[in-house]
Amino acid sequence: MKRAINIRLFPSKDQEVLMWKHIGSMRYVFNWGLDKQINHYKATKKKLSAAELGVELTKLKNQEGYEWLYQVSNATLKEALRDLDKAYSNFFNGSGFPKFKSKKKSKDKFYSRYDKIYFKNNIVNLEKIGKVQCRNNYDIDLSKVTKFSNPRVSFNGRVWVLSVAIEIENEKEQLNDFSVGVDLGIRDLAIANIDELDTKNINKIAKVRILTKKLKRLQRQCSRKYEKNKKGVCYQKTKNIAKLEKRIKRLHSKLAHIRENHIHQATSKIVKIKPFRVVMETLKVSNMMKNKHLSKAIAEQGFSMFITQMKNKCTKYGIEFIQVPTFYPSSKTCSCCGRIKKDLKLSDRVYKCECGFKADRDKNASYNLAKYGLEVSV
Ligand SMILES: [Zn+2]
Repeated sequence: MKRAINIRLFPSKDQEVLMWKHIGSMRYVFNWGLDKQINHYKATKKKLSAAELGVELTKLKNQEGYEWLYQVSNATLKEALRDLDKAYSNFFNGSGFPKFKSKKKSKDKFYSRYDKIYFKNNIVNLEKIGKVQCRNNYDIDLSKVTKFSNPRVSFNGRVWVLSVAIEIENEKEQLNDFSVGVDLGIRDLAIANIDELDTKNINKIAKVRILTKKLKRLQRQCSRKYEKNKKGVCYQKTKNIAKLEKRIKRLHSKLAHIRENHIHQATSKIVKIKPFRVVMETLKVSNMMKNKHLSKAIAEQGFSMFITQMKNKCTKYGIEFIQVPTFYPSSKTCSCCGRIKKDLKLSDRVYKCECGFKADRDKNASYNLAKYGLEVSV
């Protein structure tokens, strides 16, 4: 099975300089190649092949003043030409004409030669960059992986990441004979029929609250600065605004990372106890109650990320994953006797049944989800 992984990198100062050189050179070669293509087309009405451009590139590298291109991996430069070739071919197939890559608009990433990559302890080897410190958050022994495909190193404004696809064997696990029902909510992110699997709402944790406040403050500061520097009807981006925007981008990325990591921990916890199946609701908007600490958009994003991760992890371990139909009354049904309480309101936090059963509303829903399809309700 192929699996895409993201590995956080901790380059030294010198390595970081080299990485920026790789990013800059890829952009340079792409633009240089595009210029060549344009001129060639004007003269001959034909397209240069990637191989022809490769020959031109070697000539360029040997010209005086272009020695710096030798500091960069040749595979990286060739990849820029392949990217260009793809964009140019797409143009001939009806897409838009390839654009020159600008420093401001293009993504900060570069291709790293796949067959030079290997892991050892917390080190990854990258061609021309050398042995870079890294952190492996996956339960995979990367030193045993021999095949890496399409590796890219990118900088997201805050951290360096290596994204690469690896080939791993699908392991069959011994599963237990219980099922897990998971109910997603705003007060708590996930409530399950097994208490240890419950997961808090990360946005209520002090660290995230502080960061969110800080983000809002910066955003206000930024829009105020835009207003102040407005010339006529045109907004101006000053150096200070650019600096502020960079900080905002970093904060966004940090928050997104914390949220994603939180969901990874929650979903991992569930597959680690190896149930034979996991049952969840189909995502619906009525789940999103109004909450002043959380925008609907963030909740929605978190919920769909949770479901995607849950699905993927279940597939990986051979656990059955089920989403109940939207009309299934998981909240309104008594998980003890099966009665359906039609007048259950969103504000009723505790579920009380005529049969004497009493439980937290979301807990009751998770019990029902866990039982879904296993028995016919009375
Ligand atoms: Zn009941």
